[in-house]
Amino acid sequence: MAHINENYLKLPGNYLFATIAKKVADFSQKNPNANIIRLGIGDVTRPLAPAVIEAMHKAVDEMGKAETFRGYGPEQGYEFLINKIIEWDYETRGIHLDTDEVFIGDGAKTDVACIQEIFDKNMTFAVADPVYPVYLDSNVMAGHTGEFIDLKGVYKDVVYLPCTEENGFKAEPPKDRIESMELKNCCFPVPANKKKEHVDLVYLCNPSNPTGTAMSKEELAAWISYAKETNAILLYDSAYESYITEPNIPHSIYEVEGAKDVAIEFRSYSKSAGFTGTRCSYVVVPKTVLAYTAKNNAISLNQFWNRRQCTCFNGTPYIIQRAAEAVYSEKGRNQCKADVDYYMENAHIIRDGLQAAGYTVYGATNSPYAWVKTPANMKSWDFFDLLLEKAHVVTTPGSGFGPHGEGFLRLTAFGTRENTIEAVHRIADLKLIK
Ligand code: PLP
Repeated sequence: MAHINENYLKLPGNYLFATIAKKVADFSQKNPNANIIRLGIGDVTRPLAPAVIEAMHKAVDEMGKAETFRGYGPEQGYEFLINKIIEWDYETRGIHLDTDEVFIGDGAKTDVACIQEIFDKNMTFAVADPVYPVYLDSNVMAGHTGEFIDLKGVYKDVVYLPCTEENGFKAEPPKDRIESMELKNCCFPVPANKKKEHVDLVYLCNPSNPTGTAMSKEELAAWISYAKETNAILLYDSAYESYITEPNIPHSIYEVEGAKDVAIEFRSYSKSAGFTGTRCSYVVVPKTVLAYTAKNNAISLNQFWNRRQCTCFNGTPYIIQRAAEAVYSEKGRNQCKADVDYYMENAHIIRDGLQAAGYTVYGATNSPYAWVKTPANMKSWDFFDLLLEKAHVVTTPGSGFGPHGEGFLRLTAFGTRENTIEAVHRIADLKLIK
């Protein structure tokens, strides 16, 4: 008899975006004439850049001729793309990487969900609260957590890093707070005086989805010191790096000294170049990032991720990698930047418009997400329902990203300019803030 992976049963029944979709479907059925504006799901709306389309057409033609046809490519990705990544995303910021430290993937979701496979099943991990759900759920499925505690909305054996108004929504290294938490045994060698505060892996998303806030170089330096002191590894998701506008926010964690010893970085073309439906990403695993065997022998994680990819992945399609390469051409860079600028203008419209209407709004400065405080201590879902019913605007309830998201809504800047302006007017016109 086949037994299922019972860990899947720990996942709460309703996936956040499925619940939202159902509420919106029910509402539109009852109100067929309502002009609903969707500022909920973080999907882009602008078409691919012309330079990208041109490169894809060319690559499609190559695939149609015997002389230029490509079959399986390297599991790690083609060097033509890896070289462009190193040149444009890293060397321009003074970071040196070797070609075998970059792995092309088919989306950061796949990459961040799968990275946990190369770590011991008894490892402990920390996530921000609120958090991009994939970090958490992929670990739940792999059996790295205890049960879901319904009343608290958290899993046992996970270290949550509260991101609140008080700390500027910035995940802080787990120091004293951790002493009160029940931790499993650590899988890495940990100095005795650090045991209580230890986690093996820390997922950091910067700029953050969902709060839209971003950590500075100094704040990341504290994380790097923490990781070095305790032998932890930082899993750094930089999917929104292209939306950074402030100079003290690093685009790569490797801009911060020491990061190449402790951090793996994830990047995506989804939001920087509109690839949500095209699918391309990459992971940087410096050879200097080490983890330990049960006998405390250090092993380079680069070697392990390479092994994992060669076994489980047959590479991102050639056509798509040519498309990603075109993002780095002069035309590609200008066209993609114009799209990011367009979305950032929307973000400013949301931030400034709602602030003018009396709302407290965070994010939307280095990120396409605005994190809006609900009026009069309303619960996230109640405010979501109210905006759907009265303004016909779809948002995402903050509580869907973790208990500390309660009392907030996430609005995305990925809509059209007209819809963004209209949505802000409709919310402001409700005059919910006196
Ligand atoms: N990481 C974060 C923080 C995200 O918000 C998203 C998508 O919304 C992803 C990763 C997934 O990106 P991709 O489309 O490359 O799978």
